[in-house]
Amino acid sequence: MKHHDRLISGFDRVSHLIGRYGSALIGVFAIAMVWAGILYSISEERTRTEQAARQNNSNLTRAFEEQIIRSIKSADQTLLYVRDSYAKDPKGFDMSLWSKNSQFLSDFSFQVVIIDKNGIMLASNLDPGMNGLDLHDREHFKVHAEGTKDFLFISKPVFGRVSNKWSIQLTRRIFAQDGTFGGVVVVSLDPEYLSRFYNSVDIGRKGIVTLIGLDGIVRARASSGPNASAIGTSVAGSPLMAGLTRAESGSFTSTSQIDGIERITSFRKVNDYPLAVAVGQSSEEVFAAYRRDRDRNLMAAVLLSLIIGTISILIVRYEAGLAKSRDAAEAGTRARSEFLAMMSHEIRTPMNGVIGLADLLASSDLQAEQKKIATTLRESADYLLQLLNDVLDLSKLDADRMEIEHVEFQPRLSVSATIDLMMSRAKAKGLQLTASIADDVPQTVLGDPARLRQVLFNLVGNAIKFTQSGSVQVEVEAKPAADGMTLLAFKVTDTGVGIPADAIGCLFREFSQVDSSISRRFGGTGLGLAISKRLVACMGGEISAESTIGKGSQFRFSVLVKPHRDVEAEQPQTDAAPAASATASEPSAADFRPLKILVAEDNVTNQFVIRKLLQKLGYTPELVENGVEAVAAVQNRDYDLVLMDMMMPEMDGLVATRTIRRLPPPARDIQIIALTANATSQDELACLAAGMNDFVTKPVTTGRLTQALARVNAASTQERLIA
Ligand code: ADP
Repeated sequence: MKHHDRLISGFDRVSHLIGRYGSALIGVFAIAMVWAGILYSISEERTRTEQAARQNNSNLTRAFEEQIIRSIKSADQTLLYVRDSYAKDPKGFDMSLWSKNSQFLSDFSFQVVIIDKNGIMLASNLDPGMNGLDLHDREHFKVHAEGTKDFLFISKPVFGRVSNKWSIQLTRRIFAQDGTFGGVVVVSLDPEYLSRFYNSVDIGRKGIVTLIGLDGIVRARASSGPNASAIGTSVAGSPLMAGLTRAESGSFTSTSQIDGIERITSFRKVNDYPLAVAVGQSSEEVFAAYRRDRDRNLMAAVLLSLIIGTISILIVRYEAGLAKSRDAAEAGTRARSEFLAMMSHEIRTPMNGVIGLADLLASSDLQAEQKKIATTLRESADYLLQLLNDVLDLSKLDADRMEIEHVEFQPRLSVSATIDLMMSRAKAKGLQLTASIADDVPQTVLGDPARLRQVLFNLVGNAIKFTQSGSVQVEVEAKPAADGMTLLAFKVTDTGVGIPADAIGCLFREFSQVDSSISRRFGGTGLGLAISKRLVACMGGEISAESTIGKGSQFRFSVLVKPHRDVEAEQPQTDAAPAASATASEPSAADFRPLKILVAEDNVTNQFVIRKLLQKLGYTPELVENGVEAVAAVQNRDYDLVLMDMMMPEMDGLVATRTIRRLPPPARDIQIIALTANATSQDELACLAAGMNDFVTKPVTTGRLTQALARVNAASTQERLIA
């Protein structure tokens, strides 16, 4: 139970904290969302940009490859054509024709040379003076001299001894008439030719186009910077070569070994030739626009975060202020109602003395003048007590601490009990007090009988108070309501002074009395109707009033109850609670056989009051001062009843009761009635839970005591009969 409570209060605290910092949490969440969104879109944008660059480069490698293939084919055409011309008539072959009529020599190929079978240059289209040069050690000569096949050889770049510039040789073997090796025909290509392709596409200032042999040697390179130094170098082991060993085409990002620039590069093998092309764009240039956008977005996110943060802080501070004042207000309300509950207890104890003694005094043998004083004293004390009860009720309603019960009770009995209580007052004024309860009012219902009686008591009390002659009538009906509930509708009609129409509106406000002389003439606190209205509202009903001056008033109210069918089924219809009649009366002391009574009470004044009251009713009680003595007395002597104070030194009334209930019979079965200044329903429940039979709140008056004793008597008579 304790653990459970702690758990609940833990939850409360957490939800309280969440409530308090809710705006901060929402703020943090909003900032997190902004950042998550922006970072996501930034990373998406980066991926998108990179993919676009790769795609673009890859398209360019395709175009570049086509151009290379076309150029090599045209160079090869030249080779074949020159070789054919030479083979047909080696003696009559005239190279100068090639330098004039160079339709095959596009600017891609800049030199055509014929080398004889010994490696000696026979003819060149550029400078006939170079003829006779020994080229037998050149690779492009050796591959054909040492082999037998006819194929196109593409050399590594060579720095020309004749031309003084880089060139790539495309060569084919010349077959002599008898099919033996007859020399080599050479077409020299200018790597610079590549820059034309480079110039025709836009790959940025730091972009680069490369033609590379599958042997890892750079054949040609075009960029905006100096390229000559790169030609002929080996890039074996570079990401490009690694990519080429894995796939026909692809792309990668890496930092160049040659110029140290990071590039996004796409590559592609050239179909049919041991070559590959690569197109790269510098990452810096590819991502330039992306970076600008990214920085702008980040700035926006920072700004947005600052704004959200500031707003959240402002809201949290505002809410903290609100919560502080709300906490203070709640603490104030709590303190007030705790104070009132304590004061109520403290005031009831001396009030018990005042009312009890005034009661005794008024009923003793006094002179007329003295009797009037004693009666007025008694009435004033009663009024004071009523005021105390009303203020306490109101403070509980204000602090929302009024607990509405849902216990089983019989509404017919509640009505008749209230009528019985009021009957003597009605009779004293010569009024007829009647009640009629419709047949469809359920026998047993679930609800709060004490609060229902309180409202009814208040309305019937007012009706009697404000009626000089005639009658007061109570009517009860039942109406079905939603969810299987029943609405009990009450009408209290009197033939009294009536209420002016303009006063009806404020009838249910605190401290409202139609006429300020009323409290002097009739008594009353002006709180009864206000309390009734709130109680009725707590019980799910409504209250209203109609009145005609001089003719009388009618108050209506309703409460929601739950019909309790199981019990009802067991009760025969004929067993309906008797509708009260004018003949009902308060039970009198004469009905009881003398009971042997033990009183456990520590306060000397209260001991005196209770002893006197009981003596007046014809009993001779014995008194003890605390619970320990009460337990001992019950064991030693034979009592019918213990009147047990709740708060006593050494052992309080609850512990004493529990101890008695554990004793062996017959002491165990004794009737115990609590006498207490604690007037809340929790206290009542605590008494009953401890094993008490009944509950009488202080101040104890002759009337209350008589009723409680009557109940004990009825119970013990029944027990005797059963036995
Ligand atoms: P009080 O304790 O003063 O009776 P209530 O709140 O019960 O306080 O009633 C407020 C006022 O309403 C009364 O003082 C009286 O003026 C008027 N009143 C209430 N009931 C009736 C009635 N049945 N007939 C005439 N006046 C009434």
